[in-house]
Amino acid sequence: MSYLSLDLSRSVPTRSRIYRTLYSSPDFCSRQSLARDCEISLPTLHQYLTELFQAGLIRSSGEERATGGRRVQGLDIVPDARIALGISVTGQHLRLAAADLRLRELAYRRVPFALPSHLQRADGALAGIIEQFLDDCRLDRSRLLGVGITIPGLISPDESRITFAPTLDIQDAPLYPLTRGVAYSVHVENDGTASGRAESFARRRQSMAYLSLEYGIGGAVLIDGVPYHGNSAKSGEFGHICVEPGGLRCSCGRHGCLEAYCSAARIENGLGVGLEDFFRGVAARRPEYEELLFDMLRHLAIGINNIHQVLDCDVVLGGFLSEYLQPWFPALKRYVLSGNPFSEDAEFVQLSAVPRHITPLGAALSFIRDFVASV
Ligand SMILES: [Zn+2]
Repeated sequence: MSYLSLDLSRSVPTRSRIYRTLYSSPDFCSRQSLARDCEISLPTLHQYLTELFQAGLIRSSGEERATGGRRVQGLDIVPDARIALGISVTGQHLRLAAADLRLRELAYRRVPFALPSHLQRADGALAGIIEQFLDDCRLDRSRLLGVGITIPGLISPDESRITFAPTLDIQDAPLYPLTRGVAYSVHVENDGTASGRAESFARRRQSMAYLSLEYGIGGAVLIDGVPYHGNSAKSGEFGHICVEPGGLRCSCGRHGCLEAYCSAARIENGLGVGLEDFFRGVAARRPEYEELLFDMLRHLAIGINNIHQVLDCDVVLGGFLSEYLQPWFPALKRYVLSGNPFSEDAEFVQLSAVPRHITPLGAALSFIRDFVASV
């Protein structure tokens, strides 16, 4: 079950309120409980339910429960009444995921894709890859709400330009060469923002600092589930916190940033191996692999403690690099604890509740949120 920031007040039209209540309910929902929660009569509810059934948006959940001496049937939304696509763009790959309205993954592909720093050369490439993905995974275009695209960088408020993406070696470039020819609604946003929202969705309403560990490092600050963007939409750019003054050179041009120490790029560029091979090597106790991993964990712990000491909330690790960290998570927590004078344990550090493909799923979520709010 999951959380979207949905208005359930009486100012919302009744049909929408019924659908949103059903979507948001963490428990068994019957006609009786729905009428009570929406503060409407059973005949009024029946009229709107008929509409929603006919539109293919709700269904019987197949569950029955005994209440008040008789058995009542459960109701649910139809999760795949609509689908959304999310695409995470990195320097080396595209990660494509299709999700239903519950943000459950329906299909996933990782496609090699070298995004040229002169974006003009990317002309139309994405449109063909999307169509191929839809065909290969037999996804129903008539139910597709749109395509969310995440970029590891800063996006202009009107979504027309990448203003700064050091890991892609892009400084101020128009986005249209990338999205040209895509036959569906498109929404472009920062990768950390999108995956932070997906994390908040999975955990239900919660305050957290979300740290996205990919080829770059970004993130999001969520207060009671609501993103805090900052004065110039740069909040959560955790990758450029200094964790080693005068240390390794970062893609931003400075030295000692968290991103220079803890991104997937450090592994792939430093050792010339992919993440699978690297973590296999660490598990096999290859000394140079272990040395790099523990150096990364030490610096990650410094960054985590800096964030925690400012915000005093959970610090959640996501992004594709975090998918490999579970076996070394206790070691990370020991580093965190040894560097944190205010905390008796390191339980505030957590791995993502969306263990796989959080960034492309987060990209899809914006369309899901808009659709659920529009019914
Ligand atoms: Zn930096």
